[in-house]
Amino acid sequence: MPTPQSLCLINNHFVPADSGNTFPVTDPATDKAIASVPDCGSAETWRAIEAAAAALPEWRTRPAPARARVLRTMGDLMLRDQDRLAAIMTAEQGKPLAEARGEIAYAASFLFFSAGEAERVYGQTVPASASDKRILVLKQPVGVAAAITPWNFPSAMITRKLGPALAAGCTIVIKPAEATPLSAFAIGEIAIEAGVPAGVVNIITGDPATIGREIFRHDAVRKVSFTGSTEVGKILMDQAANRIVKLSLELGGHAPFIVFDDADLDKAVAGLMANKFRNAGQTCICSNRVFVHERVFAEFAQRLRAQVAALKVGPGTHDGVQIGPLIDDAAVEKVASHVANAKSKGAKVTVGGDLVKVPDHANRFFAPTLIEDANPEMKCFSEETFGPVVPMMKFSTEREAIDLANDTPFGLAAYFYTSNASRLIRIAEALDYGVVGANDAAPSTAQAPFGGTKESGLGREGGHWGVEEYLETKYVSWGV
Ligand code: NAP
Repeated sequence: MPTPQSLCLINNHFVPADSGNTFPVTDPATDKAIASVPDCGSAETWRAIEAAAAALPEWRTRPAPARARVLRTMGDLMLRDQDRLAAIMTAEQGKPLAEARGEIAYAASFLFFSAGEAERVYGQTVPASASDKRILVLKQPVGVAAAITPWNFPSAMITRKLGPALAAGCTIVIKPAEATPLSAFAIGEIAIEAGVPAGVVNIITGDPATIGREIFRHDAVRKVSFTGSTEVGKILMDQAANRIVKLSLELGGHAPFIVFDDADLDKAVAGLMANKFRNAGQTCICSNRVFVHERVFAEFAQRLRAQVAALKVGPGTHDGVQIGPLIDDAAVEKVASHVANAKSKGAKVTVGGDLVKVPDHANRFFAPTLIEDANPEMKCFSEETFGPVVPMMKFSTEREAIDLANDTPFGLAAYFYTSNASRLIRIAEALDYGVVGANDAAPSTAQAPFGGTKESGLGREGGHWGVEEYLETKYVSWGV
């Protein structure tokens, strides 16, 4: 792995924690430490916010095309360094190198798209009801933004916030996940090389509760964008109430995947394989409950069995590996407990179901697993598993499929396959989710609005909707 930066970024200086304390970053495939990073607290968080506040007046008034140029340069540099950044990501996160390269390109796409959007932040004029008045609607940056991001997409979840924030004219303080800070620091280095002025992008690591608390306490922070678990999202929403901080929450999912009897089964199997097993099933939009019409269930299960059993498990750095390690021991325990719970309720596990031993590596590799007779009583049908487990269940009517799919407090992503156009629009409208894949299991892209309903979150990232989250709407009533 290339030597990554391992210090925090405040005001364009890479700095240690005031105390000098650090915490280790480990490779999930081996459980060995690969770096140590600063364990910051209140004082450093405060300094990062003040740096962002000091940088705000110049950045927000810099012409949009000039801000856009900086973002495009950042995107170009990420692509230039794609292999280096992917190696850092695989080392700290575990995903196969090919997937990590893909994530770097995906992360850069948010910078490119945001650069374009920076130049399209349009205000409006509105016809007034008196001849001596004019109504102007201005779009202005909210101010200093803070981003709190998860470990499963260590680069893309940062640029999906940084890109639109800088495009809107905001400055930002980023707190990456403890497990994956090196990808964040690498983005910090790229920001400096791209010409991002001091204080516009700041990155700190340390105790999450302390950093989170300070972010909500400091008056300069006017926007917080969080991606992570619903549990932590609820804590942040509570904290945001104190100062009425604008909040975006991209939280957990529990995606249904429905296969109707008129579906193209080849496409449905391929879609499910790609969607479910990316990042070893550790994605917020991966399918967690698969509902297959009873007429095609046997055929679908048979095709799926063969493909799931053929997946190659191993360290992300090894050629051809499709399933890397889970992020930590707690993740392994959760996945194993979901499988054990399903078995205890009578489930038939037809593929996988246990850890795979990889010589000289940690016990973090869980076999791609197929449960063919799952039911809503099982934990895997009510909680996000976050692992390579496919629980399947039969259904017989369209109504039953919709009710099963919507029977969850989550509402992030849902998928279905059908070749009937009328059914397609009927189901798309009936699914209570923010993102619906209709004959498509890979909906994420920089230009589309991404986000959830119900306990999956608030707000949208991507497209002009993503930039809108960092803007205030100001109405100027102009007497002439
Ligand atoms: P997490 O435990 O909620 O952590 C997310 C981030 O919040 C991390 O940076 C974490 O820091 C920080 N954090 C934890 N406690 C905090 C607190 N009290 N105050 C402020 N920050 C705090 O989630 P995760 O395990 O990293 O990620 C997996 C979850 O993210 C899954 O539920 C997944 O569905 C969801 N996710 C959602 C989306 C989406 O777009 N909707 C995308 C990706 C992932 P530490 O790492 O230092 O603990």
